[in-house]
Amino acid sequence: MQFTDLGLSAELLRAIGEQGYTTPTPVQLQAIPHILAGRDLEALAQTGTGKTAAFVLPLLQRLTHPLSGQTGSPLQKVIHTAPRVLVLVPTRELAAQVTESVRIYGAHTGIRSLAVFGGVGINPQIQTMRRGIDILVATPGRLLDHLGQRTVDLSKVQTLVLDEADRMFDMGFIRDIRRIIERLPKIRQNLMFSATFAAEVRELAHTVLKNPALVEVARRNAPAELVSHAVIKVDKEQKRDLLLHLFEAHGWHQVLVFCRTKHGADALARKLEQSGVRTAALHGNKSQNARTRALADFKSGKLAALVATDIAARGLDIDSLPRVVNFELPNVPEDYIHRIGRTGRAGASGEALSLVSSEERVELRDIERLLKREIATSVVPGFEPQHNNSVPRAAAGRPPAHKPAQARTRSGTGDRSGAPRSPRPARSGAGGAKPASHHSGQRHH
Ligand code: AMP
Repeated sequence: MQFTDLGLSAELLRAIGEQGYTTPTPVQLQAIPHILAGRDLEALAQTGTGKTAAFVLPLLQRLTHPLSGQTGSPLQKVIHTAPRVLVLVPTRELAAQVTESVRIYGAHTGIRSLAVFGGVGINPQIQTMRRGIDILVATPGRLLDHLGQRTVDLSKVQTLVLDEADRMFDMGFIRDIRRIIERLPKIRQNLMFSATFAAEVRELAHTVLKNPALVEVARRNAPAELVSHAVIKVDKEQKRDLLLHLFEAHGWHQVLVFCRTKHGADALARKLEQSGVRTAALHGNKSQNARTRALADFKSGKLAALVATDIAARGLDIDSLPRVVNFELPNVPEDYIHRIGRTGRAGASGEALSLVSSEERVELRDIERLLKREIATSVVPGFEPQHNNSVPRAAAGRPPAHKPAQARTRSGTGDRSGAPRSPRPARSGAGGAKPASHHSGQRHH
């Protein structure tokens, strides 16, 4: 089964081709026909399964080809300024990811989208909204702010998507969601994606979805089982030399290296290249041509290393790699799963190697908590850390004393998406608070 068999339009197939995707993932195969037909949908799919494209692609199709022979009522093709699709997400990271997917898959459609989340100025969001958007991606808190100020018009919404519904519960957004839903037209299509079918998720599905199609997919990759994880402790200043040493000592090829920032990716790629490791950097500042060329060279084996940022690496069809290296750990533990999803797919073994400095111990602990296991650490002779590099491991390897999703919320994502409206229980235990500086910036790509 190919993308062409799903009845997607030429513009979408072109964008899919540009990403290098050849076959739809299981959730895409199952969900796209239902969404095209205008049905409600309840999907159990984790991040990493291709779930974003599973709803973005058919919704783009319905927005741009309202009369494409589908059975459901089409999304109307009239020039609107108010959004016709509303995607509710728990965090600003996910909002940014979904709008990035709309931008990538909708590159040849002219569809306009906007991400609306807290923690940044509201005025630019208002101005963009005034110019007209088709797909609005929002965190609940900030969307309610807009509703309160009457700066958003939800009266034209024809499809509602609840993405990562389980996390929205964990973050206390349920009341906000219900208040938003009250403001939507009664007749609409509803899609809900969740990683779990917890009782509360089912309950919401019951009240919101009408005769939904059910889609359930296995994880695309099972990182904890298929990938071997390793940490090398090293001082931050030594990381570049250590990475170079590893390339030289092991004759590595086809290694995808992750950095947090564009600037860091460029600097590292330069250093590797200057030292004789064929390398390209991949990030949001690179032209589409440069990205396509880098990817082709990497896949063909011309390049030994591709240094990427998280967002640039999304949407690229590079998987089944022998090795992924985290030159820096991601701020958000879920991004670790995204990153390592590039290796060890389809039963092949893969290695996820992280170079971790003492500054990153909190991130490491959050990742271990998410994986529910401790990652073995080692040092490389000649690169032993000089700074205190001890990592508090208390929470890894055994179930945390609180809900893991709350841990994620506190430590990585939720704080930045606008505060949940419902009060959250105070968290106790080791490692609860992370210095504010970890949260302050927007993510670079
Ligand atoms: P998601 O589950 O939406 O977070 O997607 C996980 C990753 O899979 C993203 O990096 C996507 O770009 C990528 N992806 C989505 N669909 C496909 C596909 N059909 N083939 C290969 N990669 C895909």
